[in-house]
Amino acid sequence: MSDLSKLKISEARDALRKGDVTSVALTEACLSAIEGANALNAFVHKTPDLALEQASAADTRIAGGAAPDLCGIPLGIKDLFCTKGVPSQAASRILQGFKPEYESTVTGQLFGAGAVMLGKLNMDEFAMGSSNETSTYGNAVNPWRRDNDETALTPGGSSGGSASAVAADLCLGATGTDTGGSIRQPAAFTGITGIKPTYGRCSRWGIVAFASSLDQAGPMTKDVRDAAIMLNTMCGHDPKDSTSADLPVPDFEAMLTGDIRGKKIGIPREYRMDGMPDEIEALWTQGREMLRDAGAEIVDISLPHTKYALPAYYVIAPAEASSNLARYDGVRYGHRATLSHGDGITEMYEKTRAEGFGPEVQRRVMVGTYVLSAGFYDAYYNRARKVRTLIKRDFENVFADGIDAILTPATPSAAFGLGEMSHADPVQMYLNDVFTVTVNLAGLPGVSVPAGLDRQGLPLGLQLIGRPWEEGDLLNTAYALEQAAGFVAKPGKWW
Ligand code: GLN
Repeated sequence: MSDLSKLKISEARDALRKGDVTSVALTEACLSAIEGANALNAFVHKTPDLALEQASAADTRIAGGAAPDLCGIPLGIKDLFCTKGVPSQAASRILQGFKPEYESTVTGQLFGAGAVMLGKLNMDEFAMGSSNETSTYGNAVNPWRRDNDETALTPGGSSGGSASAVAADLCLGATGTDTGGSIRQPAAFTGITGIKPTYGRCSRWGIVAFASSLDQAGPMTKDVRDAAIMLNTMCGHDPKDSTSADLPVPDFEAMLTGDIRGKKIGIPREYRMDGMPDEIEALWTQGREMLRDAGAEIVDISLPHTKYALPAYYVIAPAEASSNLARYDGVRYGHRATLSHGDGITEMYEKTRAEGFGPEVQRRVMVGTYVLSAGFYDAYYNRARKVRTLIKRDFENVFADGIDAILTPATPSAAFGLGEMSHADPVQMYLNDVFTVTVNLAGLPGVSVPAGLDRQGLPLGLQLIGRPWEEGDLLNTAYALEQAAGFVAKPGKWW
């Protein structure tokens, strides 16, 4: 049955428990879908032998009864997660050949629950980008195309491989990470669901660091229920990450009642941008009406410092990246440049880093080093940190006024053509994150839900932003929105 890879996690879980399907059969269906989808360039390291081994162990466990929800579920893993003995390169040449001796906490929890790893997924190099075009493996491709137009489109970034793989039914769900929007923007571009949990919900241990005060892992799935199921297993306290929260993890799936009567949903006026396509504006209005019809109260709110979020992010994220990426020096991991006679250690560092890092990563390292330098630290880095506090306070104020969740567009456009932005100013690409970075700066949970198609037949997403640690409530609001939007479209298969 080749359609098995099209199942949602919840459907596969129920079928596995009833004995209607085996994990080996599910895994084989996904492996064959992956083999037929090389044109999408979503999987960059395939692990079929490991997958089948894990699947058969899962079948034994399920037969023994009382298996966890994810037992036997085939997943794709973003290349940013360290997976023991399996290439983990963060889509960078500098990590070529690196096979970690350890497993990240998040993937360890997934595999401990019996999930099956199909392989590693494409992404932007070190998660820096919004189109998957900075990857050393070449870009992943969006399975969606515009009506009557064969232009290859970006799946978004940085978790572009994860988005493409889930949207094209190559796996049942995937892990992503989100530093400024990298789960939510690709989810919106490919018609799937993605949640970035509250900062500290998922352990960052064993995930290649980009900007440590912003990075969070999260699930990318075919619907909100699947996101709830996967998130439950991914999060939880980890003593190996000092920023991981020691808080109980509620049963997120059990909180999906769809009842949002009396909830107050804020509509921030600052998210109405000049030049925003009218279709995004219209979708946002529809989202508001759907939530109102479901019994929520819609309230206009103001988040006055929103306009400073993107500049603050593009100071803070490169600053942290420049420090985190200092460890790639040609000595400890991956690639080392071939040296010429007479080269010393300085030349070795310089040549290795010049060869190993792509242009976007080099740009971030240079910007980050500049904003942290003695002469400019106060003018840029310290000022950005203060702006960050003001942005966080904007959210605290509206939550203190009783707002339960905030509705915004997920992205300022639908998926764009690959290569379309390659000659543009890098700031044009950074504008993709305008609706998502505020959430990382404030450490809040945010979810992107597919809510409609544009005139050219491409998916568009809406974002809901929640109170800290209230992912269950946020997912329930997302569930109500999903029910009302009734988004069921799938990309036509051309690959
Ligand atoms: N697109 C943003 C950037 O390039 C966000 C990336 C991310 O969330 N990892 O930094």
